[in-house]
Amino acid sequence: MIGSKKNKTKNISIIGSGIAGISCAIRLKNEGYNVKIYEKNKSFGGKIDELKMMGYRFDIGPSLLTMPDLIEEIFELTGKKIDNYLNFKKKKYICNYFYEDGTRFNAPAEKKEFAKRASKTFNVSENELINYFELNKKKYDLTNGIFLRKSLHKISSYLSLETFKAILNIGKLGIFKNLSDFNDNTFSDKRLAQFYNRFATYNGSSPYKTPAIMSMIPHLEQHYGVYFPIGGMRMISKKLFELAVEIGVEFNFKSEVNEIIIKNKKAIGLVVNQKQIISDIVISNSDIEHTYGLMSKKITPSNVTKNEKSSSAIIFLWGVKKKFKELDLHNIFFSADYKQEFDDIFLNKKISKDPTIYINITSKENIEDAPVNCENWFTMINVPNNYGQDWSDLIKSAKKNIIKKLNKNLKIDLENYIDFEKVISPLDIEKKTNSSNGSLYGASSNDKFSALLRHSNFSNKIKNLFFCGGSVHPGGGIPLCLLSAKIVTDLIKEQKH
Ligand SMILES: Cc1cc2nc3c(=O)[nH]c(=O)nc-3n(C[C@H](O)[C@H](O)[C@H](O)COP(=O)(O)OP(=O)(O)OC[C@H]3O[C@@H](n4cnc5c(N)ncnc54)[C@H](O)[C@@H]3O)c2cc1C
Repeated sequence: MIGSKKNKTKNISIIGSGIAGISCAIRLKNEGYNVKIYEKNKSFGGKIDELKMMGYRFDIGPSLLTMPDLIEEIFELTGKKIDNYLNFKKKKYICNYFYEDGTRFNAPAEKKEFAKRASKTFNVSENELINYFELNKKKYDLTNGIFLRKSLHKISSYLSLETFKAILNIGKLGIFKNLSDFNDNTFSDKRLAQFYNRFATYNGSSPYKTPAIMSMIPHLEQHYGVYFPIGGMRMISKKLFELAVEIGVEFNFKSEVNEIIIKNKKAIGLVVNQKQIISDIVISNSDIEHTYGLMSKKITPSNVTKNEKSSSAIIFLWGVKKKFKELDLHNIFFSADYKQEFDDIFLNKKISKDPTIYINITSKENIEDAPVNCENWFTMINVPNNYGQDWSDLIKSAKKNIIKKLNKNLKIDLENYIDFEKVISPLDIEKKTNSSNGSLYGASSNDKFSALLRHSNFSNKIKNLFFCGGSVHPGGGIPLCLLSAKIVTDLIKEQKH
């Protein structure tokens, strides 16, 4: 432990035990602060949770992990070896893709192998692909230090050589073109453009709106790799929780925060289950819109809380009494008309009749996640946010369309094999984590300036109030949530007490 003595007298209260809340707690406890987490649910992890039922285990939130080094960093800074807690398996093949025209493509993780295989399946040369990878790497290298690892809301973040370099190269970044136009211009084969357009969904956005700078997302997957945590994604929140408890972070479950107490423009504590708790610093890991609802009505919510939200999802957790050789851990069944699908989600606010289906089967890696000769299917489609729709009717028709598509692609009668079912709707996601309108990743990146339009990690109206998690800078998804925790810790460390 390297905590300073000065910090030992400072109390920090954190609202929520999502991945960002727990990571922030570990980082700050490690600096010597007294850290207490107040979580409304009966367990930790927020969206990173699991369900065990009838011999099946399902990860019920995120399923794809990249950049596990950001998790390792947290263990290391407390002097612990991650291998004693958490192990990751690097995937050799990232995802199985099924196209409506019958094309199948199993995407290798290694770049050269990918280019070789893709050039045999799609109308593209290996060199064209290698050039595309290099351009995406350049975009990431030019911007990650500025957009992802620092607060964007402090002047000091802009006064660096790094920022100057990015400004000089702004033309290469693809801020003024959308991702789909960029991919269409790069690849003559529409199937390959659709493959790369899909990465917009990694932060719940539309490839027809999100800027082409987002082509750096496949770079993260192909450069850093895709990993499976042994035991499932839930192990990430479980092991971070165990580490936090071990170093002395206090967790309070079934502890709903009703109010952030503000006095003389300073956050001075929380009302939890109607009881006052005084603290020196307050950090909210809850959705930013919900967080403003916890403040006095005199505090006007920042305009950015009204920005378009990322998409939501309907998830069918299916226990399937059959093994499918053609499926792996990650599988995608593409829609025939991708543009129509995203217009439906973001413009028409309805569920596409032919949605792209994602199936995550952890029993492919963890055989104990399903009974013998069975598989655990986490079957997800992207859908609009929750605006009070009648989800039960929508779920019924979505299920019919999903089954029809899977039956056609896999040449089976899937319903005969479904042994167990549980459905998760956008309303369920909203209720469980207070995520605004059931969005998966906070604000969408459907605006060219979205990186600059996310809420800051601190309040410029209220002193001693900070924000981490998927709905604030730098954004949603596990890696960015982990970075938000680091940014908040750095801001608190810099603060003059
Ligand atoms: C279905 C789904 C699939 C996803 N897929 C991926 C993926 O494959 N890869 C990836 O990287 N990311 C994925 N994500 C996104 C990722 O899960 C999130 O970005 C991330 O887990 C959010 O973490 P967070 O720290 O913001 O907190 P959350 O997980 O949002 O947790 C916030 C916590 O705060 C608590 N809370 C809220 N309000 C209060 C209150 N008033 N009082 C007390 N407690 C409160 C909540 O109960 C919750 O536990 C997915 C998300 C979903 C839902």
